[in-house]
Amino acid sequence: MMNLFGKKSSELKQATSKEIICPKCNSKNSTKIYVIGVYKHLLHIPFLSGGKYGTSNCTNCNHTIELNSMPMAIKLAYYELKETTKTPIWFYTGLISIKVLVLFKIFSKYF
Ligand SMILES: [Zn+2]
Repeated sequence: MMNLFGKKSSELKQATSKEIICPKCNSKNSTKIYVIGVYKHLLHIPFLSGGKYGTSNCTNCNHTIELNSMPMAIKLAYYELKETTKTPIWFYTGLISIKVLVLFKIFSKYF
């Protein structure tokens, strides 16, 4: 019994924000913001969405900031990007398969 369940993440969206100035190297238009989707898997089949989180990365100095320690300006840009990011349907592959199987079982009683 190992790694039956687990969590994986996948990059959903990224954008370079023009207004953001990197807090480390002070360069403009170099901060990339990433929206990362987390999913729970069962036997490596994506099962359930586990929410989203964000990181930013400066393409100039390679400075990475996690969501919790982002300056307000980057945090706001992240939330703006997250607003337009949909959770991909394949995050629910396992759940959908089970629903389809259950429906199939129900219908097979009547037809
Ligand atoms: Zn930088």
